[in-house]
Amino acid sequence: MPPVIEVSGLYCRYGMTHALSDVSFAVEAGDYLAVVGPNGSGKSTLVKALLGLSSCDEGEITLFGTPLPEFTDWRTVGYLPQNLNLFNPIFPATVSEVVGLGLLAGKRFPKRISRDDKSRIAETLEQMGIADLRHRLIGDLSGGQQQRVMLSRALVNQPKLLILDEPTAALDPETRDRFYALLTEINRNRGTTLILVTHDSATVGNCASKLLYLDKKLIFIGTFQEFCVSPEMTGHFGGAAQHQICRLH
Ligand code: ADP
Repeated sequence: MPPVIEVSGLYCRYGMTHALSDVSFAVEAGDYLAVVGPNGSGKSTLVKALLGLSSCDEGEITLFGTPLPEFTDWRTVGYLPQNLNLFNPIFPATVSEVVGLGLLAGKRFPKRISRDDKSRIAETLEQMGIADLRHRLIGDLSGGQQQRVMLSRALVNQPKLLILDEPTAALDPETRDRFYALLTEINRNRGTTLILVTHDSATVGNCASKLLYLDKKLIFIGTFQEFCVSPEMTGHFGGAAQHQICRLH
C-alpha cells in the first residue's frame, strides 16, 4: 500500500518570504501525526499545500499514491479548518443541515440529500454524541458543540485521511481534552489517518503517535519517544526545555 501522503523536496514561498524549504516526509495509513512548530513556521502553508490550495514552487506531493495534480478523490480527505467563528447567532442552519454540507461537496449536480444521506448524517451525529442537537440552530450552540458539529461534517464521508488545523484553539481545557479523546478513538477504532496541526508541542505526545516539527524546514519527524532523545530537538529547544516537554507525559 502506498503511503497516505508523500511529500518530497517541497519549497513554498510568498513573494520574498520562504515559508517552507526542502520539506520531505511520508505519512503511513493509520498514523496520527501532530504537526508542531512556532507561529509562522509554515504549518498552515503545509496544510494548504496538502489540500492542493497553495501552489508551491518546487517539490512533489502524492496522496494515496496519486500525484496531487491528478488527485480527484477528495471525498476520502476530511478537513477541519482553524476558524470556528463561521456561524453568527442568526445563521439559519440546523446541525443536520451543516453536517449534510459535508456530503454535498462530493456530489455531482443535482446536489440533493438522499434518504441514505440522511441516515448517514444521523449515524455520524450519533457516533459523535450530538444526536440530540440535530434540530438545533448551529449559531445557538457552545464552541465545543460547534466543534463537534464541524468534526461530524468532516467525518460524514468517512474519510481515510482527516486533517485538522489548530482545532482546539477556541476550546476550554475540559472540552479540549474531550475533543482529543474523540480524535484518538477515531484513529484507533476506524483506522482513520490523522494530521493534527497545533502550536502546542507540550500536550500532543498524549495523543499523537508521531510528531513533525517544522520551523520553515523540517526539523524533526518521528515518534514522541524519539523526539525526547533527538539531538536535533535538543539543539533546537535546549536540553532543559526538551526535558520539560517530555516530562509532562
Ligand atoms: P504557521 O501556520 O506555522 O503560523 P504559516 O504557514 O501561516 O505559519 O506562515 C509561514 C510564513 O509565511 C510566515 O512568515 C507568514 O507570515 C507567511 N505567510 C503566510 N501566509 C501568507 C500570505 N498569504 N501572504 C504572505 N505571507 C504569508
